[in-house]
Formats: sequence, C-alpha cells, structure tokens
Amino acid sequence: MHIWAVANQKGGVGKTTTVVSLAGLLADEGHRVLMVDLDPHGSLTSYFRFDPDSIEHSVYDLFQVQGKITQELPKKLVLETGHPNLSLLPSSTALATLERHAQAQGGMGLVISKTLAILWEDYDYVLIDSPPVLGVLMINALAACQQLIIPVQTEFLAIKGLERMVRTLTMINRARKKPVPYIIVPTLFDRRTQASNKSLRSLKDTYEDLVWHSVIPIDTKLRDASTAGIAPSALDSSARGIKAYASLISTLKDPVN
Ligand code: ADP
Ligand code: MG
Repeated sequence: MHIWAVANQKGGVGKTTTVVSLAGLLADEGHRVLMVDLDPHGSLTSYFRFDPDSIEHSVYDLFQVQGKITQELPKKLVLETGHPNLSLLPSSTALATLERHAQAQGGMGLVISKTLAILWEDYDYVLIDSPPVLGVLMINALAACQQLIIPVQTEFLAIKGLERMVRTLTMINRARKKPVPYIIVPTLFDRRTQASNKSLRSLKDTYEDLVWHSVIPIDTKLRDASTAGIAPSALDSSARGIKAYASLISTLKDPVN
C-alpha cells in the first residue's frame, strides 16, 4: 500500500482537486484506490455527492473509538464512488468538534495510521485530503503518509503560507521514525500572468529541488469535473490539467525523473 497525503495550511490551493485527480488516474490504471477525507468541510465527500452534514458513518467514528478500532470498523465506513476501483472514506461535519476535544484526550495522532494498517491488503494507493488547519487531523495525515504533496497556488504571497507548512512538517518529522519526503506542486498556474510566473520563480529560488519540475495549469475541465461529481479523468483524460496530474504521478512513482 502506498500512502500519499495532500496538505497545505492554506485553503483554495487545489488540495481536494489534486486528491481526486491523482486518485482517479491511479484507479484508471487498475489500482485499487482509497481516498480519505480528513477535512471537516467535507469537500471531497461532497464532490462524490455524499452529504457531510447528514452522513451516518464517517472517519469520525474512528476517532470516537480511539485506540480500539476493530478489524471490521474501517471496512464498514468505506463508500463506493461509482468510478471503478475508487473508494472513499468520507468526512462528516462532526469532525470539526474533534479539534476541541482532541487536545484534552491526547494520543489521537495515529488513528489513521492504525486504520490503514487494517486496510493494508485491500488497497494499492491511499490519497489523504486534509484540512487547512494544523490540528489533530492534519497530524494524522502527516503521521500516516509515506509521501507528502504540498500544492501551492502560484500567486502573490504563496511562499508565506508554505513556510508555515514546512515548519509544521519539520515538527512532525522529529516525532516520526522516518521523515516524510515532500514535493511542492505549483498549482493554478496561468502562464500569461506575471503573478504566476513571478511566484513560480521565487518558489524555485527558495525551495529549489523540492519544487516539482512542472506545474498544474489552470484548467476549467478540472472545475467542470467537480460540478459533474466525477473524477476529472472520467470527464476528459486529454485535458491539460489532467495530463499534468498524470505527469505528477510519473514523478511520484519514479522520483529520479
Ligand atoms: P483546497 O482543497 O486546497 O481548498 P480546491 O481543490 O477545492 O482547493 O480548489 C479550490 C477551487 O479551485 C475549486 O473550485 C477547484 O475546482 C478550483 N481548482 C483547483 N485547481 C484548479 C485548476 N488547476 N484549474 C482550475 N480550477 C482549479
Ligand atoms: Mg479541500
């Protein structure tokens, strides 16, 4: 099982879009893929037409039982998306209450790691979507993953938010046996604008090899797919944005390229 998390403490940078795009493409290749929605807003869950306000069972159930996750529980929570090979562990808005109680209870950082250990044989790839808040949910995502993807919107001040994310990661890596490798992915890139080009240049000046060699362009097909509630590759696999995500998968599978 390969576990990739997508995180950034900034909202609207393309996290959820990255998760559905990568997950859909990996599922199209025939891999069994599980998406995990750790954002209390439940954008990923809503994307596939489940309602995070009224959903009966979600990842929240795993946090409620804490250390005592049974072998059966994770499987009971998984929903099918309708896209072949693509499953979802949904979020619910109840997750928002977790941050307040988690501090008091402690020991909640490994709930997702434990859950994925139970599902180890059932999926080839897991893509974790996380909230734009440093809290127990993001800590779970960072503790469970083997690879972190940090989408950064190519706009003015993009680097400011990234600094915070990298500091968070440094803190988490101190607590992990093996540090998480990460890749910074420039998103919503518009080559016609100075803002995009300038911020891409300053990203590369600051973070050098940690920045992916390519970019995810602005592509309305990605937005259209979210309106249709289907994985972007199912809408139009030849769209520029989808092709860029396919190229990102090649890099992640074979980091030397
Ligand atoms: P986050 O999860 O970081 O908050 P989203 O993935 O929800 O960000 O993206 C924010 C908005 O931008 C959404 O409306 C999404 O459809 C749109 N979007 C994301 N990436 C692209 C892209 N490459 N091209 C066009 N629209 C995009
Ligand atoms: Mg999101």
